[in-house]
Amino acid sequence: MMTTVDTVVVGAGVAGLSAALFLARAGRSTVVFDGGPSRIHAVEEVREYIGFDGASPTTVLRQARDEAVCFGAEIRSEMVDRIDPLDDGLFSVLAGGKPLLARTIVLATGLVDELPAIDGIREAWGTDLRVCPCFDGHEVRNGRFVVFGVDARLAHMASWVRMWSPDVTVVTRHAFTDVEAERMALLGIRTLADEVTGLIHEGDRLVAVMTASGDPIATDAAWVSLESRAASDLARSLCEVDELGFAKTDAGGATSRPGVFAIGNANEPLAHLVHAAASGTTVGPIVTMYLLERMLSERRTVKAA
Ligand SMILES: Cc1cc2nc3c(=O)[nH]c(=O)nc-3n(C[C@H](O)[C@H](O)[C@H](O)COP(=O)(O)OP(=O)(O)OC[C@H]3O[C@@H](n4cnc5c(N)ncnc54)[C@H](O)[C@@H]3O)c2cc1C
Repeated sequence: MMTTVDTVVVGAGVAGLSAALFLARAGRSTVVFDGGPSRIHAVEEVREYIGFDGASPTTVLRQARDEAVCFGAEIRSEMVDRIDPLDDGLFSVLAGGKPLLARTIVLATGLVDELPAIDGIREAWGTDLRVCPCFDGHEVRNGRFVVFGVDARLAHMASWVRMWSPDVTVVTRHAFTDVEAERMALLGIRTLADEVTGLIHEGDRLVAVMTASGDPIATDAAWVSLESRAASDLARSLCEVDELGFAKTDAGGATSRPGVFAIGNANEPLAHLVHAAASGTTVGPIVTMYLLERMLSERRTVKAA
């Protein structure tokens, strides 16, 4: 007979692991699947995660795994390929060619950052190419900042990084609205009608960005505004999602399908580590209550028969 567990958590970033920690401590049989690196592995040191500022992602995630496992969660290094809802309210989870039955599903699958196609971008991602000053603005404060990327977010990104340095140049051929232009002018942000085509290093230090016009711009920190999309199609196959594939949920992580929950970057692209961890702690009791109601319903059926 196939094994049935209370919860399958998909994804072992901080969101999935904090959900697993809660559920394991609540005595719920919990299997966590993880098929690859967490988004935080792009950096060498995590920031703004209270108690862990400056720690390596490996340290943070190893400790989180150890804690969940210590209370009985099982973690399997496998990609979940598909999840099928069954008539009896259970879910068939297929990972590594082997099926497993689960009463509830927690999707903690994260997101994918869509990097622009410029030279050296993969190598620079998470080090010289920065995504949010909340994470590492402090480390480069008052440096020469260059901002480029997805047009719709540029004015916001430039104004935001301006809080960490007065020296900000936006490189874009995009025409800003009057409101955006006025805000950036008041903040002393320069705009340059050009396109970033590459990153220039001296040794392992970023010194400039290259532009389409051939003029390098000296910089200490390059900030890129990005699009992102859901890292997995599992939500799309199970519940309502938005146009980028992120699960639509209520504040507790419940999706449109009973028994399926989504947390962390899988339903909130702006979630930092602390928010992602909190979403796992929030969903834990909600999943437990769902399991309690399910148990009651099954017992009423047996009693009535
Ligand atoms: C460059 C960069 C720097 C950052 N720096 C910071 C920082 O300093 N501080 C901070 O608070 N936040 C930072 N963040 C944000 C942080 O990475 C996210 O908030 C956090 O990783 C979200 O956690 P999560 O658990 O939701 O997703 P993730 O950590 O991305 O975990 C999702 C997991 O699900 C797995 N997965 C996906 N699909 C499947 C599947 N089908 N089957 C099995 N497993 C699957 C993935 O392999 C991954 O391990 C940074 C982000 C970036 C891009």
